[in-house]
Amino acid sequence: MTTMANGVAASPGIGIGNVFLLDEGDLIVPRHYIPREGVKREVARFRKALDKTKREMAKDTAGMLKILGKTHARLGEAYLMIIEDPLLTSDVERQISKELLNAELAVQTCLEKVSHTFENMNDEYFRERKNDIVEVGGRIIRQLLGKTKRSLSEMKEESIVVAHNLLPSDTVALRSDLVKGFAIDVGGKTSHTALLAQSLEIPAVVGLRNITSRVQNGQPVIVDGSKGDVLIDPPPQALVNYRREREILVRESKDLVKLRDLPAQTLDGKRIELSANVESADDAKAVLAHGSEGIGLFRTEYLYLNRSTLPTEDEQFEHYSRVAKQMLPYTTVFRTLDIGGDKLAAFVDGLAEERNPFLGLRALRFSLRNPEIFRAQLRALLRASVKGKMRIMFPMVSGIEEFRSGKAILDDEFQKLSREGVPIAKKVELGAMIEVPSAAVIADVIAKEADFLSIGTNDLIQYTLAIDRVNENVTHLYEPMHLAILRLVKMTADAGHQHGKWVGMCGDMASDLKLTPLLLGLGLDELSVVPSFVPKVKQAIRATNLADARALAEEILSIPEASKAQDRLNRVKLSLI
Ligand code: PEP
Ligand code: MG
Repeated sequence: MTTMANGVAASPGIGIGNVFLLDEGDLIVPRHYIPREGVKREVARFRKALDKTKREMAKDTAGMLKILGKTHARLGEAYLMIIEDPLLTSDVERQISKELLNAELAVQTCLEKVSHTFENMNDEYFRERKNDIVEVGGRIIRQLLGKTKRSLSEMKEESIVVAHNLLPSDTVALRSDLVKGFAIDVGGKTSHTALLAQSLEIPAVVGLRNITSRVQNGQPVIVDGSKGDVLIDPPPQALVNYRREREILVRESKDLVKLRDLPAQTLDGKRIELSANVESADDAKAVLAHGSEGIGLFRTEYLYLNRSTLPTEDEQFEHYSRVAKQMLPYTTVFRTLDIGGDKLAAFVDGLAEERNPFLGLRALRFSLRNPEIFRAQLRALLRASVKGKMRIMFPMVSGIEEFRSGKAILDDEFQKLSREGVPIAKKVELGAMIEVPSAAVIADVIAKEADFLSIGTNDLIQYTLAIDRVNENVTHLYEPMHLAILRLVKMTADAGHQHGKWVGMCGDMASDLKLTPLLLGLGLDELSVVPSFVPKVKQAIRATNLADARALAEEILSIPEASKAQDRLNRVKLSLI
């Protein structure tokens, strides 16, 4: 009988195949007391299992580095950090020797304590880390029980991988010709599985809660990674329909490849700079493959996350140089550290206790409060400026003094490096992100002193409409077509142009190709989008007539209701290939 499961749409596309159940769901952990004279033997058993798990993990991390690049291998390093924590070892050994628990139960008890602390944190990022701890614990316990997880290398046919959680290390043995999709019990949009699936471009649905207990090995399933649906035992007609839809998607993406070398230009000749949003040097190559003209938003903070110490100036210099060099002949816009809000770094104290982290010490405010961290980043960026074409922009500017304070520090480091004889590009343009309503309202003031403006709609919508962008209870109110948002975008574009500066958009709103004619009509000169969306947005730009788009924007700005404005937009028919 066909059943349906719904989870979080984590990586777009349609996957059809038979279930490959990676693990058997929950592990049954034996629970018993050991005799006092058995303590030594039990501790030795635990140490042996720990060592073996560590060795396996180190091997997996090395394999991941080869296949997935540094970003995902760093996740492997995070698991190693958990397993190498001396507190964990001593706590487990204490449970064995004092409480006389068997090793499996001792491991489970200790890891449960830590994982509860993470689970109760308000922040989604930290809640996700709970899964890492559970996973590491599971591996030690499996080792103790002599049960190893199935390996993806056993796969023989086109499959959908169904698992409780998918570790980057599991993907080392992944055969991309056979894996057609992922359906996973745990995880949200920022989970490792979601990020992995996106970078491997494999359709995925996560957060399905109990999918591992609802399917059997070999059962046919369909994963719709765009909608978040999983169809178990689909009827023949559904298979036919989904196969057809998949063929259309594949054909479309092949057609879109042809656009790669064509300019992002409207029918009446306005050239739009179409670039991509990137979080790591490893993703930079994909950007060019999709036909993007450089990077419009490089989120540098990812270099600071998932680690316990700050990246050094030299490490940053290497990283930024690699990105800038790879993007040549195009430009990379490096955004300075946007730590805080939902992005917390382990080395920062106090932020986790903020009552309203999105209104707290975030982004440029954080950098100005921590000048030594800010200066190290700016120096690294300036030193890397000769390795490629670079622009810098500040996140979360809320007033002109803030922008000036940041600029003064940048100028100061520029002067210092020049005096030290360090080569730096003659001019590094400095832009401001417009993502706080106050900045949009005074965009004319900021545009006078900045070289460019880039609108961050993810935050602009959050702050203008008072909708926490990570709170699932209010997502239905998150409305890009709200008249207030459209007016702020128009005001910002006009203010930039009034001072002869270009204005871009790097929030997710720029990736919605239904909005492309409206955004061009509102006056944007640049769009920076999710890398895999570049071809579709390029196609929409090339099908738009700017004069019509301006008339459309004017009409839509006269419609007060978002739903009616959306209806009007839906009536726009672009002749796409
Ligand atoms: C934004 O706010 O729109 C943006 C691009 O920045 P981030 O999503 O990294 O906050
Ligand atoms: Mg932002």
